[in-house]
Order: sequence, then structure tokens, then C-alpha cells
Amino acid sequence: MNYIYAFAEDQTLTNQELGGKGANLAEMTRLGLPVPAGFTITTAACRQYLASAKQETGFLEDELMKAVHILEEKTQRQLGNAEQPLLVSVRSGAPISMPGMMDTILNLGLNDQTVIGLAEMTNDPWFAYDCYRRLIQMFGDVVYGIDKPIFEAALTALKNKRQVQKDTDLTLVDLKQLIETYKGLYVAAGQYQFPQSVDQQLRLAIEAVFKSWQNPRAQTYRRLNQIDGAMGTAVNVQQMVFGNYQGQSGTGVAFTRNPATGEPGLFGEYLLNAQGEDVVAGIRTPEPIATLKAQLPVIYEQFKTIANQLEAHYRDMQDMEFTIEAGQLYVLQTRVGKRTAPAAFRIAVDLVDEGVIDRPTAISRLKPTMIDGLLHPLFETSAVQQATQLLTGLPASPGAATGAIYFDAQKAQQAHEAGEKVVLVRQETSPEDIDGMVISEAIVTSRGGMTSHAAVVARGMGCCCVVGCQQLQVDYEQREAHFAGRVLKEGAIISVDGHTGRLYLGALPQQTGVHETTLGTVLSWCDEIAPFAVWANAETPQEVATAFEFGAQGLGLVRTEHMFFGPERIFKMRQMILATELADRQVALAALKKLQITDFKQIFSLAEERPCTIRLLDPPLHEFLPQNEVEQAELATALGISLAEIKRRIADKAEVNPMLGHRGSRLAVTYPEIYQMQVLAIVESALAVQTTYHHAVTPKIMLPLIGTATEMAYLKQLLQQTINDYLVENQQQLTYQIGTMIEIPRACLVADQIAATADFFSFGTNDLTQMTYGFSRDDIGHFMPDYQQQGLMPAEPFQTLDQDGVGALMQLAVQKGRQTKPDLSIGVCGEVGGDPTAMPFYRDLGIDYVSCSPYRVPSARLAAAQSQL
Ligand code: PEP
Ligand code: MG
Repeated sequence: MNYIYAFAEDQTLTNQELGGKGANLAEMTRLGLPVPAGFTITTAACRQYLASAKQETGFLEDELMKAVHILEEKTQRQLGNAEQPLLVSVRSGAPISMPGMMDTILNLGLNDQTVIGLAEMTNDPWFAYDCYRRLIQMFGDVVYGIDKPIFEAALTALKNKRQVQKDTDLTLVDLKQLIETYKGLYVAAGQYQFPQSVDQQLRLAIEAVFKSWQNPRAQTYRRLNQIDGAMGTAVNVQQMVFGNYQGQSGTGVAFTRNPATGEPGLFGEYLLNAQGEDVVAGIRTPEPIATLKAQLPVIYEQFKTIANQLEAHYRDMQDMEFTIEAGQLYVLQTRVGKRTAPAAFRIAVDLVDEGVIDRPTAISRLKPTMIDGLLHPLFETSAVQQATQLLTGLPASPGAATGAIYFDAQKAQQAHEAGEKVVLVRQETSPEDIDGMVISEAIVTSRGGMTSHAAVVARGMGCCCVVGCQQLQVDYEQREAHFAGRVLKEGAIISVDGHTGRLYLGALPQQTGVHETTLGTVLSWCDEIAPFAVWANAETPQEVATAFEFGAQGLGLVRTEHMFFGPERIFKMRQMILATELADRQVALAALKKLQITDFKQIFSLAEERPCTIRLLDPPLHEFLPQNEVEQAELATALGISLAEIKRRIADKAEVNPMLGHRGSRLAVTYPEIYQMQVLAIVESALAVQTTYHHAVTPKIMLPLIGTATEMAYLKQLLQQTINDYLVENQQQLTYQIGTMIEIPRACLVADQIAATADFFSFGTNDLTQMTYGFSRDDIGHFMPDYQQQGLMPAEPFQTLDQDGVGALMQLAVQKGRQTKPDLSIGVCGEVGGDPTAMPFYRDLGIDYVSCSPYRVPSARLAAAQSQL
């Protein structure tokens, strides 16, 4: 294997070797598109460089000389030649896109001699010297770490001295003087020299790009996006074309579809007479691409054709960089474009409709986490109408967020660590700001367009973002922002609407749930291929309705204890718990039964024929009793007993270890009347709903915390008897099931015995994890951060299924349960039922459904389908 390949030289090379940019440049060259010539140094070279103790590029030398020679032949120019100088860009290009995180050098090849050659060749000395001073600046920054602001300050000082506003107002003499000043800055920064040898420039630039793989912002980006740090970056060396050349020249960035909404059609921005970084860095605010149609119609059409060709070729929305040099169009880069969550769904559906991709491909391109993005908040409409609008910018990334404003990333981070919600406000952002951007509720910039750094990064993170608030001036020194005669000081609270681009003073209330029609379409495709169903854990009518709206195919867990909260209900519950005589308990239970019937009727009618799994009372009774004396005294009065007596009865129920104490089905062994009341409430509600709504209701009654086959058999018999007596007495018929949670390790070990009487199983992974690890689910916060810091536990096991331990018990339970009953219905209703990473495991386990909270249902449907691809 070689380390260096000319574009399109070897068809077998992939992103892994060439990096995304290099592979795409090669592919575009093969497609016959106007791509400036160049070559790619592979990621293997970067790995070799970084691994060697001395970090030198000697091993590349022969191939580099050959590659440069071929490039010189192709371009009819030579590196370092004073008459026909070849100028190149040296760019990073990782296997997985990391926009703006690593380094790039443009205009390499200029020195005191070749700049004269370039001036003569182009007949434009100003342009040539401008290129040269840009090179010195970039080279200093990238190779020697001389901060950009040092160069910017020298440029500003010169403009102030000359009393001009724009760079282009400087004269040729000014530029030459600036170049000398810049060279002086090298010396001042550490006795460096700007190398006049172009060979040395090239080698140092390549090394700097290799090294930039390890810079802190690239490392942060990789950590956030789970990108393997061992891959290394490729380096692309490519002939420069000039968007800042005379005449019809310019540069731009465009997408084949709108990356914020997914709307089809070219979307992008460009600047005439500018180099690429001016657009990407947001230094000047560019024109929308539609304007190019009017300005340079022929080029616009040519670009549109290329864009369509690229999208059709890659079968996905493309993000392209282009440059126009003296009327000639070049495509510098194409890659699959980053997009917001709503855009991702719309594009996936549109591409299927257009026949470009099939449904499984569309599903595979979406991420479960994107769905949270779709359910992004909006501000309440009425609050927006009354709010004080401050400014409007470009809506770069949707969402609605409120926070205190900070003008630098570090301050924002400190405020965040102190518990504040922050909005990062900057003139423009740069990759160094990444740590501050990650923790911000929203990002606002005064400059830059929809493709600026801030916009791209925020969209990728799903963070609310507004860019290009032109009127806004940020005074970093005074730590305040000015606009239209107003001042906003650091710490002021603002609200940012990423859907409209508007900023408001103060905090605005939010509404949730943006309706996305394409989401429904994709999820219906998912249900067709998913290996198991997605149900929901819900108890209030509101939650149940939301769950079905989000496509839950059943209710996997209705926790009945949640129905006993609320002032009136808890009183009846307390009355029941504290009763010392069965007769008193029966009175309280009768009242509770009425309340339960109201709830169950609503749930059964909302569920229609979908399965509903109602779990009988689970928590230790002590949890329902008042802990403070005021409430205890009130309860004593209401029950007509003394405070001392109340305290005694409460103390009587206290347990040393309640989660392993008198809870779950154990309650029913002591107080069978509680579960008897609950099953009758279920049966009566089901019968009533069947009569009123004319649809079948088949309740699944679920017992919590079963650990032995005898418990299961005893309680099933008891409850069956109660139900059947009722049905016989009332001459009614109802199909129902009585099954169990599997949430005690012992239940997994004897699942064959339990399955003899259980009609179904549902894994309660919260308790199962708790008891398998011996980690209290309520106290894990005290020690889990230490485990994670020490690398002892990669993921929190209550949120991410522990496949090795808890999963092994589940496997055993499934195997043993189905040994007894081959068609035993089995689900997962603990928190990890919605864990996207566990879906392939569930598929292999052969379960029938997972059940999770309503808002996780859509992402679980997507993840379930993806496990099948
Ligand atoms: C479980 O233990 O996983 C479960 C679903 O029940 P709960 O969280 O109510 O204990
Ligand atoms: Mg449980």
C-alpha cells in the first residue's frame, strides 16, 4: 500500500483510507466534475506519523516528491516557480466528518518570489499579495500556534491608521507593509520565521494537519460523537482556485435541500470576491444562493446540474463547497449534509417518494435520538405575542430556549457549572468555543449565515440557534451587547426561538410537541419491519392518550399506585392502610374501588382493543403515610383517633429495608382484600366499557415482585376465584389474563415453574437490575459518578441494559418460561424497555414487546425497526 494517491487513482480505496473529503474528491473526479487536481495522503500515514517517537514525515518523502511532480505536470505549474507558481491547499479530512475541528492551510506555495510571479500571472498584484498575507496568517496560526487575533489586531491597526473600513480599501503598499508586520509577529511569538522554502512549507503544513487530529477541540468533538480516536486524518493537497480573483469570482457553500427543514431545492450562500473560509467562518454575511441565479445565471445553472448529479449519485442530500474563478466553476468538496431532525425525516420520506432510496435505507439513516429533536419545544403562542422582541436573525437550528447570556464560552461553562441555564452570544463562533456551545441552551451570533460554524455545529447537536443578528454588536471588553440603542449586560435573561430566528427579553413559557407528519410516515414503515411491538407505560388518561398518539400498540405497565396520589385519594389510601380491623379496611377499599373504576374505564375506552396491562399495588405501604407531624395531626383528626395512636400505627409499618420488605405481591399475601378490590375494579370497568363502546377489552392483570411459583399459584388462584365468583354472580363473561412481572433474580431462575401458572411475563428491569447488582435504584447517584470516573461501569445500568448480567438472567427466564409454555407472551416494561442500544438484544431474546414512557415510544419504534436491518 502506498501512502499517497492522486485523486481517483485507485478505485478500491474508501473513506477509511482517504478520509471522507478525499474519497469524495476522488469520486467527483471519476464522475468528470470540475474538481481542481490534487492528491490525498492516507490516514495510515497520519497514524504512522503520530505513532513514531520523533514525529517526522521522512517516510513519506519519496512518494510526496512524486505526487507533487505529477500534480505539477497536470496543472502546468510548479511549486516554488517564480513565473508559473503552483499554489495548493492542504486540508484535513477524517473518515467521519468533523467540520471545522482540524486544520487547513490555503495559498501554500507563496513566498517573496512566487508572489511576484502570481501577481504577473494574474495581472493582479493586489490579489497576489492579499493571498500571501492570508497564507502567512494561516500558516502562523496552524503551524506555530500564533493566535489569529494577533494577526487580526495588526490588520485592524493598519486599517485604523489608514482610516478605512474594509480590507479591500487597503492599497498594495499597505498589503506589502502588512506582510512585513506579519513576519515580525513570527519572530515576536517565539523566534519563528515564515519559511521561504515552499518544500518546507508543504512538509510543515502536512505535519500540522496530522497533529491537528489530536487537538483538544477535535478530541471533544470525537468524544461527543463517539468517533474512534485511533483512525487519524487524511490530508488533501489540492491546486488552489481563487474565489477572490478578479472578475466573476466567488465562493460558496450549498446544500441540495434545506438542511433546517428538508425542503427540496438548492439552498446555500455565497460571497463574490472571497475565499472559502470567509463564508464558513461567518466573517462576512453572505448572499442567498438564489441571488446567484440573477447575478451569474449560466454558472448557477451549471452548479444546479452538478448538485443534482451529486445527490443522485450519493443518493442523499449533499453539502457542497464551490468556487468560481474568473468565470470558471469548480467543486471543491461534497459530503452528506448535516441536517436538523425535522429535515432528516422529511428528506428520508421525500427520497423514498422520489424513488431514490427504499424504506429500509430511509429508516437506517435516522437516529432514535433525532426524535427528541422533533419533539423540541416551541414557545407558547400567546406568550410570544405579548413578549418584548429584541432582534431577529436567521433561524439556524430549531427549538425554544431561555437562559442568561454569556459572551465567551468559558464564562458560559462556569455559569453552567454553577447551575445556570445559559445562552452563548458571540459575534461568531469558532471551533474553540465547542465546550461552551455544548452546554448552552441556545447559541446566538451577530454575524454569519446558515452555514456558519455556529449554525452547523448547533444543528448537529440539536441545539437551538439563531445566527446573523446583524444589528447586534458584542462588546467583549465591557461584557455587554448593543443594538438599536439598547444594552444587554452579561447575565441578562433572554429567550431564543430557533424556529423563527427571534430573540425575546426575559423567560417565555414553552409548549412541547411539534407535529411532524413525516415522523408518522417513517414510524409506520418501522412498525412493518420491527421484530417486536412497542407498548407504553402510562397511567393518567393524558399519558395514555399521548402514548397512543405516539403509536404505542398497547399498555405494558399501568402502575396502579400512581392512581392513589392526589389529596382525596391519598386520604382514602391512608385510611385503608391504617385500618386495624378488616371491616374498616373494607370501607376504605370500597371508596378506593370507585376511584379505580373511574380510571380504568377511561383507560380501557382510550385503549380500545389494544392490550392493557394493569399492575396491582406494588410499593411498601409506608410510602403512602405522612412523614411530618402537621399532616399526621390532620390525619388523626380526620380518622377520629389521637396523634399518638397515628404515630404508633405509622411506626408499626416502618421497615429497615422497604424495597426488599413488605411490598409487591407480598402485600396481597397479608391483605388479600387489596388485590381482590383491584381485580374487581378492573373486571367491572372492562365489562362496562365493553357494553358502552362495543369493543372487546381483555385486561392483562399483572402481579409485581413474584419470586416463587407458590406465590404465583396461590395469588392466581385467589384472584381467579374472586373474578369468577363475580362473573357467575352477575352472569357475565370476560376474557382476562393473570401474569407476572419478572423482576426478582430468583424468578428468572425458576421461570419454568412460574410459567406453569402465569399467563404472561413482563421483565421489570428496574427491580431486576437493582437486585442483580445489589445497587439501590434510589441511591445510585451517590456512587455511580465515581464508578464512571474510574471507568468501572461504562453506562448507568438502570438506563442502558446490562446485557452481560441482567441480560443473561432474562435469557434464562425466556428459555425456561417458554420451555413450560412455548407461546408465553413476554415483554420488557422497565426503563431500559426504551433503550435503543438494547433493541438488537431484545430481538435475539425473542420477546413480544417492549414498553416505555410515552415520549420514548417513537424513538423505541425506530430503534426496534433498526434492530432488524
Ligand atoms: C421495574 O421494576 O422495572 C418496574 C417496571 O416496576 P417499578 O419501576 O414500578 O418497580
Ligand atoms: Mg418493579
